[in-house]
Amino acid sequence: MADKRDYYEVLGVERNADEETLKKAYRKLAKKYHPDANPGDEAAAEKFKEASEAYAILSDPQKRQQYDQFGHAAFEGGGFDAGGFDFSDIFGGMGGMGDIFDDLFGGGRRSSNPNAPMQGANVRARVSISFDESISGCVKNLEIVLKDECTNCKGTGAKPGTSPKICPKCRGTGQVTFRQQSLFGMMQSTQACPDCRGTGKIIEQKCPNCAGTGYTSSKKTIEVTIPAGIDDGQSIRIRGKGEPGVNGGPRGDLLVEVRVASNPNFIRQDMDIFSNVEISFAQAALGGDLRVKTVDGEVIYTVRPGTQSGTRVRLKGKGVPSVRNKDVRGDHYVTLTVVTPTRLSDDAKEALRRFDELSGNSLNQAAEGEPKKKKKTFREKMKEAFDGD
Ligand SMILES: [Zn+2]
Ligand SMILES: [Zn+2]
Repeated sequence: MADKRDYYEVLGVERNADEETLKKAYRKLAKKYHPDANPGDEAAAEKFKEASEAYAILSDPQKRQQYDQFGHAAFEGGGFDAGGFDFSDIFGGMGGMGDIFDDLFGGGRRSSNPNAPMQGANVRARVSISFDESISGCVKNLEIVLKDECTNCKGTGAKPGTSPKICPKCRGTGQVTFRQQSLFGMMQSTQACPDCRGTGKIIEQKCPNCAGTGYTSSKKTIEVTIPAGIDDGQSIRIRGKGEPGVNGGPRGDLLVEVRVASNPNFIRQDMDIFSNVEISFAQAALGGDLRVKTVDGEVIYTVRPGTQSGTRVRLKGKGVPSVRNKDVRGDHYVTLTVVTPTRLSDDAKEALRRFDELSGNSLNQAAEGEPKKKKKTFREKMKEAFDGD
């Protein structure tokens, strides 16, 4: 990799070559070095790969810019990836090419060797917990049907005492190659073998325990530890509890999605909690201690005298713990709503009237005796303005 040739050099173009020039240069090289035009010629295959890689990078404006700036270092680490690259642009309408490119650029990797160890598939499951459990964390037992390697045939799928045969059609490769005529000459494309369905093996006598699949399914109980602070819809990955691997590969993972029930008292937003608390007019005016429900239970909050309805106060650190560190917590915001009383005793009414008089708040009420200066309505003000002097 250290001696990787410059992409422009590979295609034999100037550094400022336009798209059309790149395309022409690549087409010429692809035709010359295509593996089907040079059967068994490793050097040609290598040149073809090199040219394809160079073209894939330089024909993509973003990748080309990265390459111009950083050279090959721009694409180090992940290896060459032509994923999503559309060759149909240059090979449009020429059947068969797609398969060849799939083979060269990873699309065909999955079927390259049916005997290679492969990790098993991930399994998804869901678990429901209460709001309180999401705050404190909890342990849940999850019942799930999981596949295991069949103990009777040790996963081969063949009846004990027999063994699977190598598929004669594909000679165990799991792939068959079709040849067809195309613009470049004879082309070949590769597909999964229809006789063995890509496994490379034929089972003549199936294992009675697993019906030749190599797997048995059974119900398992899996303990899921749910961390404090988990939010609705988040998932927990339990490594190695998915489907068994193939050819000795590791098991897949179990992904458990957590659903958290809502709580009528609290609304959660990220790590913060929001709630409403109603206070009386007297509490709002005079101030005083108030019981407030939090996720930790009730706390006492001291309301300041003269609190207005709609005031929001913060209870620091009374929110949701972080799933990564339960000592880090969000806050709890409480909106204080002053409730106007609807049913009053005669004594209470009298006290309120007295209060009103004392605080001189009866401005809008034409009380008995000398009426106070009446406030003009908006309509009256407008009328005056238009009537003029
Ligand atoms: Zn079996
Ligand atoms: Zn086969």
